[in-house]
Amino acid sequence: MKRVKVLGVPVDCMTEDEAVNCVELAMRRQRPCSILAVNPEKVLRAQREPALLEALRSAGLLIPDGIGVVFAVHLLHLGHMSRVPGSELMPALCEQAAKQGRAIFLFGASPEVNEEVGRILPERYPGLRIAGRQHGYLREGDMPVLIEAINSSRADILFVALGSPKQEYWIHRYLPHLKVKVCQGVGGTFDVIAGRVKRAPLLFRLMHLEWFYRLLSQPSRILRQTALPMFVYQVLKCKVTRKPDLRPALSVPPVSVSRDKSDPGSSSDHHGEKAA
Ligand code: UDP
Repeated sequence: MKRVKVLGVPVDCMTEDEAVNCVELAMRRQRPCSILAVNPEKVLRAQREPALLEALRSAGLLIPDGIGVVFAVHLLHLGHMSRVPGSELMPALCEQAAKQGRAIFLFGASPEVNEEVGRILPERYPGLRIAGRQHGYLREGDMPVLIEAINSSRADILFVALGSPKQEYWIHRYLPHLKVKVCQGVGGTFDVIAGRVKRAPLLFRLMHLEWFYRLLSQPSRILRQTALPMFVYQVLKCKVTRKPDLRPALSVPPVSVSRDKSDPGSSSDHHGEKAA
């Protein structure tokens, strides 16, 4: 797996199957692995928010969540990837966890949504164990108790649904204190699972217009969506002027799919980094 930089922000070249394989590898490591999603909006925000860039750089896996990021990577010939929406990776990990007898912890969303997700997931994936749950409207002072609850639940995977960039900061700050193997920031995915927010119909998804459907169904997101034309403009400008950002994309190496399986604790064999 290759980590490249889009407009100075790192993202991993992968497909959904590769992402699931990476998580399998991460399950055998000692240190917890975080999974964060990269989309055009986050790229632009990370450009002006160094703390967010640092949170992204320290993630074990940076999935290409937005079609804009995939388009940019291909246009700038940085590597090959397909879109890996966080809202699809989470169900894939739940399915895998059910098969392997692993337990998950659900942190985030409103109390009603959180409870509903805790009920729906084991119905959808028989055998899936919910080690614990907590809605996402806690005070900062409640965090030590939450961390203790997550650790004593012995969950293998923690899903954090606080929206962006709140969840990126939360994961960056608390991951070192967690005993889970994997921690994924999933944004509004709990609302989708609970049926409060609809995903785009298949036709929109096939045409890579999920962002447009979201805009139509949640017009309040218009401010956030203005990031897209700015992102496209910057990518095209980068293509024309071709000024690569040569700062290193990594502060920790991403999980590698090709690492020697006999050495689960070894560092990854990340290579061939490209930037734009
Ligand atoms: N949320 C939360 N705590 C907060 C703020 C937000 O649990 O303090 C939840 C909110 O209820 C919703 C999700 O975070 O379930 C945000 O969803 P959104 O679609 O905005 O996520 P994004 O688009 O940022 O990934």
